[in-house]
Amino acid sequence: MRIAIDLDNTLLNTSHTCIALFNRLTGIDLAPEDEKHYRYYEFYGWSEEMYEVMYERHGHDIHWDTAPYPNAVEIVKELYSNYELTIMTARPELFSDVTCKSLQHHNIPFHEIRFTRDKYNLCQAMNIDILIDDAPHYAVEFSSKGKSFIIMDQPYNRFVDHNLVKRVTDWHEVRTAVSVMSDTKPPGQRVKEAKS
Ligand SMILES: [Mg+2]
Repeated sequence: MRIAIDLDNTLLNTSHTCIALFNRLTGIDLAPEDEKHYRYYEFYGWSEEMYEVMYERHGHDIHWDTAPYPNAVEIVKELYSNYELTIMTARPELFSDVTCKSLQHHNIPFHEIRFTRDKYNLCQAMNIDILIDDAPHYAVEFSSKGKSFIIMDQPYNRFVDHNLVKRVTDWHEVRTAVSVMSDTKPPGQRVKEAKS
């Protein structure tokens, strides 16, 4: 079985770092639980263009300073030993170096890393069985096209409700959800192809 894992707000607690930084820059006091919309920069009164400027200026520090969620690293290591594992992030290539260095710094293993905003088509092209991600628009797209999805619970994605979308709240639940999905695959496809 092939798995893709998103980084920001799925494997890494990026909101924590972003919001602390943007609060400091703006003097606005936003908490992660106030993040009811995926485009949280609107709470700071920013347009998408203003956010892009801030992100380009501070993205390197944000991505370096952001830590994994509890238990994420040990469970990703387990998944890596049993499945083909791709890190799939919508971060721009501009931050590819700091992204790879940060993953190395936190001892997060992977077989491949891809930078894309078109995750559905890339998962199809790579024969990836399951994407683990927090973004509601991907969950809606995948499930509407008949593809299973594991969604990391966040305040801004709770409106997503579909029988192909499995909601998880921590990395122990990710491990359980992947295990259940793996058990429904034909035996020859359960472990990574290098072993079969
Ligand atoms: Mg994300």
